[in-house]
Amino acid sequence: MAPCLVGIYDCLRAWFNPASISHAPWNKKKLDVHEYYYQVFLQKSTPIEVKADTSGKQAIVVGGGLAGVSAANTILENGGKVLLLDKSAFCGGNSTKATSGINGAATKTQKAKGIDDSVALFTSDTLKGGAKKPELVKVLCGNSGADVDWLVDKFALDLSLVARLGGHSAPRTHRGKERFPGMTITYALIQMVEKIAEHSKGRKARIITKAKAHTLKMDGSTCLGLVYSKGGTDYTELGPVILCSGGFGADFTQDSLLGMYRPDLMHLPTTNGDHCTGDGIKMGEAIGAKSVDLEWVQVHPTGLVKPDDPDAKIKFLAAEALRGVGGLVLDANGKRFANELGRRDYVTGEMWKNKPPFRLCLNKAAADEIHWHCKHYTGRGVMKFYQSGEALADDMGVSLSVLEKTHEEHYQSAKKTEKDPDGGSFPAYPSGKSWDAASGKTGSGKKFYHNFISGSAVKTEPFYVAIITPVIHYCMGGLEVDVNSLVVNAEGKAISGLYAAGEVAGGIHGNNRLGGNSLLDCVVFGRVAGRHAAEQMLGADIKDTSLAALSGA
Ligand SMILES: Cc1cc2nc3c(=O)[nH]c(=O)nc-3n(C[C@H](O)[C@H](O)[C@H](O)COP(=O)(O)OP(=O)(O)OC[C@H]3O[C@@H](n4cnc5c(N)ncnc54)[C@H](O)[C@@H]3O)c2cc1C
Repeated sequence: MAPCLVGIYDCLRAWFNPASISHAPWNKKKLDVHEYYYQVFLQKSTPIEVKADTSGKQAIVVGGGLAGVSAANTILENGGKVLLLDKSAFCGGNSTKATSGINGAATKTQKAKGIDDSVALFTSDTLKGGAKKPELVKVLCGNSGADVDWLVDKFALDLSLVARLGGHSAPRTHRGKERFPGMTITYALIQMVEKIAEHSKGRKARIITKAKAHTLKMDGSTCLGLVYSKGGTDYTELGPVILCSGGFGADFTQDSLLGMYRPDLMHLPTTNGDHCTGDGIKMGEAIGAKSVDLEWVQVHPTGLVKPDDPDAKIKFLAAEALRGVGGLVLDANGKRFANELGRRDYVTGEMWKNKPPFRLCLNKAAADEIHWHCKHYTGRGVMKFYQSGEALADDMGVSLSVLEKTHEEHYQSAKKTEKDPDGGSFPAYPSGKSWDAASGKTGSGKKFYHNFISGSAVKTEPFYVAIITPVIHYCMGGLEVDVNSLVVNAEGKAISGLYAAGEVAGGIHGNNRLGGNSLLDCVVFGRVAGRHAAEQMLGADIKDTSLAALSGA
């Protein structure tokens, strides 16, 4: 079958369930769908061989995830040249795994939908969520609207759906109708660099995969370029370096950053790809760059356990939205113990105090609202459908009356909140009072209820249920950067010619990152770094350049 007969929708579907497309050519070619997609759709052309660039107008981007391709496109848009290196066989990184979406305040989409949001409100939520550096939060939130619009306008992306995730005071997490926002956004940006590389025959852009950057070239305190290895040979490239190599959430290596800073987490599974070994942080530290917050590793409460492979080190993540639509989290005894809509670190913290296995339970209305996900997880064997609450209780080994009581108490709290939203006996999250005793006792009472059912409905209610476990998910720490995304040294002084953006950069989210703020941080700081590097390289020659024109469109 010709590649063109498999559409992008099939690729998206197959991404999470390769076996779902029986006629798929990746199956015939015995390729992983990710690799197939990359090879056939993104690397149709023969690789372009160009010698190392010494023109002084080239920036080198390490890593082809969302931060890297945001930086690369921004350099091109400002008239510079770019070399994009990625150690993996294909670009995309963890960015392609993101399923919830990207945050933005005061975007065109929000305005069209009449959503009342502002940079000030977003800034306050992000600081309340855990961020500690107001100057970086100002860049993150301040640029968010324009940068989400940039994605829509320059890459023809659909980001027309807006959801509200935990810790946000307004719906501001953008995604499109195709369900995989991280992948569609990142691939659109990779494709642009690919097209420009092809159209300019490598004179404007080059992408080299299976190329591992390992050493920064320094002249005193200025970064001049780097050395990477490919196929056993080292190559040197010159130009400002933008490190976009991702985090260290899968660094189980000999010199593991996880082992050094969070040995207590080494036993946990991870949602991260195996490229997440903190290479950029290690390269930076080797030349005296300062790292920050490396001990802050986000553990997500809803890694999905596959009952027939419970010890798998890499786990799928249950989308945050499953709790947003009304999923309840129950302990082994069938009881609620936390505010399902609280911060990730809070929910995880409460899980440690209670008895596993934990279950994420969606009643019919909740599951109907997020039907595609439930079907998808069920197909992957990480979620189970129960005809009735009775069948669920039976499988859990608890009596039906326990599940009825749990749901009835939750129902009563929801009803009291409807009647008296500002009342309650417990402190609520993010603020105010809560009627919910189960979570209220933890100090973070539930305030928002959705698709709740009474205890009497449980017996015959159909449920979709997943066993969940805490998973290593995101590294808040990394190389410390300033507002220009320049990496700083031990004295806090910017290292000329060295930038970091995306998960490799630290200090932006403090001790807890809000959902949707990472894709945003990739785009915002990728663009800040790209723009600043272009200004430094090109000086007066910097000029607005159309990506479409560069790509020959
Ligand atoms: C399952 C999952 C779901 C998520 N959902 C969301 C979400 O909905 N919203 C959100 O905001 N965030 C989400 N996140 C977090 C977010 O996706 C990541 O933090 C973000 O995409 C990281 O982007 P990045 O560009 O910094 O790194 P990555 O996308 O990980 O890319 C790094 C790239 O660098 C390459 N690389 C690494 N080392 C080297 C080296 N030495 N030389 C050359 N190349 C190298 C890698 O091969 C990789 O391609 C999610 C994360 C996961 C794992």
